Amino acid sequence: MDISDVRGYALSSPIDPHQDRLFFGGTRRLLKRDVVLIVVETRDGEQGYATAGASSSAMREYFEGESQGTFADIVEGSVADAIEGETVEQPAEIHDLIDSVDLPERIQTEAASALDVALFDLRGKEVGAPIYELLGEEYDTTPTVEIPLYASAGMYMQPDGYVEQAERIEDLGFMGYKYRPGIGPDGDRETVERLVESTDEMEIMLDVHTWWKLGESYGRDTVRALVEHAADHGAYWVEEPVEPSDRAGYVELAETGAPLAGGESEASSAGLVELARTGALDYLQGDVRHHNGYTGCLTAIEYCTNREIAFVPHNFGTWLGLIANAHLVAGAPEVRLLEYPVFERDPVLDGTPDPGMYPFDLAFDILDGQPAVENGQLTVPDGPGLGIDVDLGVIEDYPFIEGPWTEFHYDDR
Ligand SMILES: [Mg+2]
Repeated sequence: MDISDVRGYALSSPIDPHQDRLFFGGTRRLLKRDVVLIVVETRDGEQGYATAGASSSAMREYFEGESQGTFADIVEGSVADAIEGETVEQPAEIHDLIDSVDLPERIQTEAASALDVALFDLRGKEVGAPIYELLGEEYDTTPTVEIPLYASAGMYMQPDGYVEQAERIEDLGFMGYKYRPGIGPDGDRETVERLVESTDEMEIMLDVHTWWKLGESYGRDTVRALVEHAADHGAYWVEEPVEPSDRAGYVELAETGAPLAGGESEASSAGLVELARTGALDYLQGDVRHHNGYTGCLTAIEYCTNREIAFVPHNFGTWLGLIANAHLVAGAPEVRLLEYPVFERDPVLDGTPDPGMYPFDLAFDILDGQPAVENGQLTVPDGPGLGIDVDLGVIEDYPFIEGPWTEFHYDDR
C-alpha cells in the first residue's frame, strides 16, 4: 500500500435544542457530538476510512481541553507528514511510523488507532477480504459474523424513564441494557430494583462513569454499597465505578465479588493490559478507535484469552465505529458481544416510543446504507475491508462547532 494522502475532518452533530440532564449535585448539558473522520488514500486511488476523536472520554476532553478540531489538524499535519509517501505491506507497520512523531501519548494513540483501522480497510480492499477474515487468518479463528448486541442508553433519568426505555430495548431483542445512573444513591438503588423487576431475560449493566465525576458527593463507602447492591440484584456488570486511574479502587471493589468492567479511558492498549493485570475486572473494554486499532486490541485480547476476563469492546459513536469494532468481535478469539449506542431516530430500530438517548444524526448519516441490525443482532458486512461505504457528503453537512460537547454544571453547596 503506497500511502499518498491522509486527511482528517472534524465534524459536529448538533443537539439542537440542547438537552439538560439532572444528576446528583448538578446538571449536565448536552450540546453536540463530535467525530473526526479519517480518510487515507493510496496511490492507486483506493480509500480507507476510520473515525477517531481527541479522546474516548467526554470528561477528559472537557477537562483537559483537547478538541476534535485540533486533533484533525494534527492528523493532517505531523501525522500525514510522517506517512504520506510511505509504502506499508501490513497495517501493523503504521505504528512504528506514527511512534516517530513527537506527540502527547493520548493523541499518538488516537492517531495510531485511526490509521490502523483505515489501513486494515485498505488491506482488505487490496486482497478482496473483509477485515474479520484477515484477523481470523492471523489468529487462526473461525470468524463469527452474527454478533449479539447490548444496548447502551439511559442517561440520568427518573426511575420511570429508565424502566420505560429498558422495556423498549428488551422488545427490540437486545441481550442487555446499559444505562448511566447518578441521580443520587436512593434513586440509583430504586432504578436497579425496578429494572430487574420490569425486565425478563435481558441483562442489566450500569455504566457509572458519572460517580467518579461527582467528586466526594457519593463517597467511597456509598459507591461500595451501590456496587454491592447492583451485584446482589444480578447486574451483569458495573462499569467504571471509580476513576479510571484508581487501580487500587478497582481492586477493593472487586473484593465485594461484584462483576466489574472498565478500560475505555485507558490511553493505550498497554494501559488496557495493565488494568487487566490487576485481576479486578471481569470485562475489559478496549476499542479499535482508542487502543491502537486492531493491532493494539488484539494484544489485549491475547492477554484475556484463557483468563477469567472477557474482552467486550467499548463502542460509542457512529455506525462507522460500530462496524470497525464489529470486525474485531467477528475475527478475534473469545470475543462475543458488542455495545450498540442507541440514539434518537435510529433508522434500524423501531422508534415508538423512541428509545434513544439524544439526537446524533451524523452517527447514521456517515454511512451510505445501514448496518444489518435485527432482533438485537448485527450481521457483520462481508465486503472487502470494512465492507461499508462512507457518505463523504457529511463533510459538508456537519461542519465542526467549536467548544466542548457537554458541560457539567454543579449546584452550589
Ligand atoms: Mg462507558
